[in-house]
Amino acid sequence: MTLTVLFAARDVLWARYSTALPEAFRKAGLDIRLIRACGPVCAPDQVDYIVYAPNPDLTDFSPYTNARAVLCLWAGVEDITPNKTLTQPLARMVDTGLAEGMVEWVTGHVLRHHLGIDAHIVNPDHLWHPVAPPLARNRTVGILGLGELGSACATALAGLNFNVIGWSRNPKTQPGIICRSGPDGLNATLALAEILVLLLPLTPATDNLLNADRLARLPKGAVILNPGRGALIEDTALLEALNSGHLAHATLDVFRTEPLPPDHAFWAHPQITVTPHIASETRAETASQVIAENIRRAEAGAPLLHLVDRGAGY
Ligand code: NAP
Repeated sequence: MTLTVLFAARDVLWARYSTALPEAFRKAGLDIRLIRACGPVCAPDQVDYIVYAPNPDLTDFSPYTNARAVLCLWAGVEDITPNKTLTQPLARMVDTGLAEGMVEWVTGHVLRHHLGIDAHIVNPDHLWHPVAPPLARNRTVGILGLGELGSACATALAGLNFNVIGWSRNPKTQPGIICRSGPDGLNATLALAEILVLLLPLTPATDNLLNADRLARLPKGAVILNPGRGALIEDTALLEALNSGHLAHATLDVFRTEPLPPDHAFWAHPQITVTPHIASETRAETASQVIAENIRRAEAGAPLLHLVDRGAGY
């Protein structure tokens, strides 16, 4: 039976997925008609699955009465979970390419701060200051969020000998990582994290998690890397912690408003590095295989991979 899959995402994504998805469907043995919009030849109630990333053209899912799942191309689903018209099962993206990219971004920026690389790149007075950085085994990195991306980063950093402490909602164990959970676990993680990496989803429970009180718990001179979501940190509290000298630096990839407005204080701040939400992106080739696998599973009556827990918000 031919299945109808609606691709509902911005044009820029269609350019990447228009060949990757059919190829993945073919390899999975799926007979699929991939469409970009419903119209005279395909009514919404004929759509079997929706491949989705937030876009202004699809905000009301209620006409898709026979859609068996909405398969999101993004890992973060905070813009989607509040949509009350979306009653179909929602799967988010977990993609090997996404995890690899995040490991590379996080490792690169951790090493930048751990090794003090900036001082050697910008040294206009040609100062000879032969102080070697500590070894990674003497540096503690905290990772808030030990999910698909946080745990991959934790493993990579532990592989470089960093002391890694990870924090998650539910207690967990991971070889080579000190795992913490709950409010006490958060405080214990913050107290030791010389470099703190935020890889939490944005939910009502994590919104503004890093407020002034929690930033004050970090060791003096700590560095924050945020490739998670902008609203995990209170902007003004972050600026105050940097200006007071409590924090040394923040490298931010995500922001409350994106693109970050040109006049935003983060751009000009000497202790903030802005990267334009490029820490990692879903890779069309590997992500298409995940989409195909989920459709194959749903058609076989097997549980979907990476289902979003609407109550928890991620
Ligand atoms: P994930 O697999 O769902 O992992 C989320 C982690 O956060 C889990 O360990 C979870 O705990 C923990 N968590 C959630 N709520 C919590 C709470 N209230 N208290 C403590 N821990 C909590 O997500 P992921 O795939 O790793 O992605 C993480 C986030 O990265 C995404 O949501 C997205 O915002 C961001 N991201 C950014 C980029 C970029 O380019 N900048 C790219 C992709 C993703 P449990 O393990 O106990 O459930």
